Amino acid sequence: MERVQKIEKAEKFRLALQLVGLAIFIYFGSQSTFYVVLLSIPVALLLGPVYCGWMCPRGMFQNVIGSMGKRVLGARYNKLVPKKLHKPLSCFRYVVLLFLLTAMVLHELRIIDDAIMESVVIDGLVVIMVLSILLSFFVDRAACRYFCKEGAAASLTNLVKIRKIRRDPLLCNSCGICDRVCPMWIDVSRKDVVRDTACISCMKCVQKCPVDALRVE
Ligand code: SF4
Ligand code: SF4
Repeated sequence: MERVQKIEKAEKFRLALQLVGLAIFIYFGSQSTFYVVLLSIPVALLLGPVYCGWMCPRGMFQNVIGSMGKRVLGARYNKLVPKKLHKPLSCFRYVVLLFLLTAMVLHELRIIDDAIMESVVIDGLVVIMVLSILLSFFVDRAACRYFCKEGAAASLTNLVKIRKIRRDPLLCNSCGICDRVCPMWIDVSRKDVVRDTACISCMKCVQKCPVDALRVE
């Protein structure tokens, strides 16, 4: 019961932060995400990309759309992408990031003009993001997993973060709950330490482990 209350409190806190993220997004525009991710880097160096797991409004929309998808599709949810394709597809978000950075450099060098930058690059990325958010009706956090450029940049902090999720093999009973609740499809139950760049530091695995075998240390 105490665990359920803790999880409910954490989810309310997450929702409150996501609403703050949404207010920033609406007030300052879509480019603000980039700067908020930059500002969150000190926390990310400690805990990983917490902005993605706790504050991103796009994450909030994906959670809402995803819960509708889970209700409608039941056991067919999350089956659109086969697991063997998941890893290579996850690299696509780095391609999107590289595409944007290249376009920005070319724009600075005046090789591409303002019109192309705005109508092709920026608008094209917005369309990709909207479609990928809608895709979360079929696949949990589809935008985060495969398309988000800010998530791609923030994910690199997983390589250097100071505190990591560690699994105590003596406490773990291999129930697999952590694997099932992980929105980024990480096999937490098979790892001693979660080092994946896919991790968005949402802490759902830690929250839901029934025997507290997962800790952030
Ligand atoms: S949820 Fe906890 S007990 Fe279950 S497999 Fe994961 S770490 Fe082990
Ligand atoms: S490993 Fe845990 S913290 Fe990381 S994305 Fe999966 S559930 Fe969230």
